Amino acid sequence: MLSDVLHGPQGSYLDLSTLFPEGVFAYVTLKGFENVAPETLREFLRGRGRDVLAVHRVDQVHSAMVVRADQSPCSADALVGSAAGEAVRVVTADCVPILLANADGSRYAAVHAGWKGTLARIVESAAAMVAGRDVSGITAYVGPAIGPCCYTVDGERVAAFAREFPGWLPQGGSAPTLDLQSINARMLERAGVPRDAIHVEERCTACSLGLCCSYRRDGERAGRMASLVGRTA
Ligand SMILES: [Zn+2]
Repeated sequence: MLSDVLHGPQGSYLDLSTLFPEGVFAYVTLKGFENVAPETLREFLRGRGRDVLAVHRVDQVHSAMVVRADQSPCSADALVGSAAGEAVRVVTADCVPILLANADGSRYAAVHAGWKGTLARIVESAAAMVAGRDVSGITAYVGPAIGPCCYTVDGERVAAFAREFPGWLPQGGSAPTLDLQSINARMLERAGVPRDAIHVEERCTACSLGLCCSYRRDGERAGRMASLVGRTA
């Protein structure tokens, strides 16, 4: 899928809310957005008619740690919320942002999955926490991330992925690359999330010059994109 780019006073963004159950909202802010601080995001949500009391965040450390929103802020890479009138967010620039919600929208999560988090299967842990007993009711959005077109890695890293996910990597090609979006989507599917409830954004952050933040392309000046999901009050 390719989401429409929308424009607001703070900058450009994607609105993924229609993918999720009623009452759940989800957005990704794009390159050049004012900033990704929780206060700015609250202001942004207010402008969309969604008044939230809090946007929760964590200090991202490329771990496999999933925490509840009421345990934040702390060091972790996925946040699970359940309160109405609140949201959770992660920030990325090439790593994969993943947003999840259960069938009735009573639990939702934002996940940061770089290569380390993907290898450590953080999205599975987050989905289990969101799902409770019913993984088949989950909706997932796998956001803009660096694609196999641009994500060349060393052979050692590819070997680690081949060991963890046997048979999942495409064979051949001139240089070793990884497709972290599809590996995370496949993990969700294997965990029991229906294929048609897994929405993958067809945007490579490194290719989308004017639209996406890419650390690999721009280094320290890359900026960050916020991916957030929450529930209306
Ligand atoms: Zn690319």
